[in-house]
Amino acid sequence: MVHTFDAIIVGAGGAGLYAALEASQKAKVAVLSKLYPQRSHTGAAQGGIGAALGNVEEDSPEWHAFDTVKGGDYLVDQTAAKILAEDAVRAVYDLENRGLPFSRLEDGKIAQRRFGGHTHHFGQGAVHRSCYAADRTGHMILQTLYQQCVKNDVKFYDEFQVADLLLDGTTVRGVVAFELSTGELHVFQAKAVLFATGGFGRMFKITSNAHANTGDGPAILARAGIPMEDMEFYQFHPTGILGMGILITEGVRGEGGILKNRDGEPFMQRYAPTLLDLAPRDMVSRAIMTEVAAGKGVRGDRKIDDYVWLDASHLGREVVEKKIPDIADFCKTYLGVDPAEKPMPVQPTAHYAMGGIPTDVDGRVDTGKVVYDGLYAAGEAACVSVHGANRLGTNSLVDLIVYGRRAGQHIARYVSESGPVSAGEKDAERARQRIEVLRSRKGGRHVGPIMDRMQEVMMEKVGVYRTQEKMDRAVQEIQELRQQFKEVSVQDTGAGFNSEVLQIMELENLLDLSLVTAASAAQRTESRGAHAREDFTERNDDQWLKHTMATITGDSVSIDFKPVDISIWEPKPRTY
Ligand SMILES: Cc1cc2nc3c(=O)[nH]c(=O)nc-3n(C[C@H](O)[C@H](O)[C@H](O)COP(=O)(O)OP(=O)(O)OC[C@H]3O[C@@H](n4cnc5c(N)ncnc54)[C@H](O)[C@@H]3O)c2cc1C
Repeated sequence: MVHTFDAIIVGAGGAGLYAALEASQKAKVAVLSKLYPQRSHTGAAQGGIGAALGNVEEDSPEWHAFDTVKGGDYLVDQTAAKILAEDAVRAVYDLENRGLPFSRLEDGKIAQRRFGGHTHHFGQGAVHRSCYAADRTGHMILQTLYQQCVKNDVKFYDEFQVADLLLDGTTVRGVVAFELSTGELHVFQAKAVLFATGGFGRMFKITSNAHANTGDGPAILARAGIPMEDMEFYQFHPTGILGMGILITEGVRGEGGILKNRDGEPFMQRYAPTLLDLAPRDMVSRAIMTEVAAGKGVRGDRKIDDYVWLDASHLGREVVEKKIPDIADFCKTYLGVDPAEKPMPVQPTAHYAMGGIPTDVDGRVDTGKVVYDGLYAAGEAACVSVHGANRLGTNSLVDLIVYGRRAGQHIARYVSESGPVSAGEKDAERARQRIEVLRSRKGGRHVGPIMDRMQEVMMEKVGVYRTQEKMDRAVQEIQELRQQFKEVSVQDTGAGFNSEVLQIMELENLLDLSLVTAASAAQRTESRGAHAREDFTERNDDQWLKHTMATITGDSVSIDFKPVDISIWEPKPRTY
């Protein structure tokens, strides 16, 4: 079946919905989503959205932009960070006007709390900058935007998994999607396509990410020969629930929660004397791993699964139940621990992809050498780059709203000015053949063991601390797993609701992105932000102040670079 729209938005998280909302002012827009929109991972965001409203104390967008650049260990494109911080204020009021029920201060203004790496006066102390709706901020954003899109007549295709991109040279023609309920392939012809498919935390064994976060957008574009930017920078959030990875928001520390080792020592004072527990995430995750390696984890056995405590019990029941009600629920359900009474056992969990599809500040896919016509990306799948080597908490939600909106606006202009494109039934052939092969292969391998091994390899070898030997080994093992993947077949050959076919496509995407991530990491011989090497412990601006651009060809990955925009602040050593 062939459908025709001006613009296709792939993904119904915060980024996709905001772009759809903007583009639909002028264009005929459809959103394709493999999940029901409200199940997108944006709905899981707990802590808040950062904007220098200054409702609790003095604040400024300039400080926010600076914190973003410094937090990202100076790999951030500074003009993009400035746009992010300045536009964040407008974005939050815009969400308020659209009906988002923010938590309030006594005087009726939007409430704000502290978050890691967000400071006043260029690093002098933590500032209240995160706007929140209890610990359900993302859920509220998603509900608000979805309602607005429905009002604007955006057409939704739910449970449609995009499998292929249609390009004519460097000009977009549309996408091919698989309909879960029927197994049918649909061709969507469009002048503009935006990928807002979210993150790919499922590459790792312990992760805060939902099962659907498999990096489909970046992988589809990587297979079309588009380089991926800064993939070595993957964030580990310091406080995942022990063994499960489910996130405990940084908002707990923003409200005054403290990390402690086995001796009950609040150890962050040794690592970040000014910001303590509110240092950026890369530093806090490393501090936890260092405590564990020194035998100061709770079990004290120095193993990778050893952990520390996150203590919020001194905050009192009222604060816990009012400010972090969902977290309190998770802890009671999964751990049998009431955080108003006892500390929570936590360990770092794979959380956020700083890297992804390279874009300019209007969301256009831009490799630094080629700009693709009609092809856009936004949200976690994209790399603008405002997060550099390490994202600050609350800056992803801002990224979705600010850059999702800018992309949507550009799309509206682009489709009104550009000529027609054409796509037809035969364009589904490549996707159809791939699925046919999976169906016809006899006695092939299963998905499960390949997925499990990939997640173990990435967790152990491309985790918080890295070495050349481990990363090289990871590249090799992922290459072997990609070979094994060629022997996978489906057990369920039915047409309707065949989620196995979709799972296989997702595994392929994760394997491709794992290879790009491991190869990008293995070549960067310095430590910067989330890329922490035991064999190259220092940041090296002379050699490495540049973005990695990694292209996948067959079994190997070739590396190129792109300059970093440092037009506002000169890179300095990072202390907190
Ligand atoms: C537990 C958790 C808590 C977080 N808390 C915060 C926070 O407090 N503040 C903050 O700033 N950030 C937070 N983050 C990060 C932030 O929530 C995410 O980075 C952000 O929501 C991603 O939004 P997105 O729009 O890019 O993608 P998502 O919200 O992940 O949506 C992706 C969409 O793409 C669709 N999709 C994917 N693949 C396909 C395909 N092949 N075909 C069709 N559709 C597809 C999905 O159906 C979905 O609709 C948190 C993340 C997690 C995991």
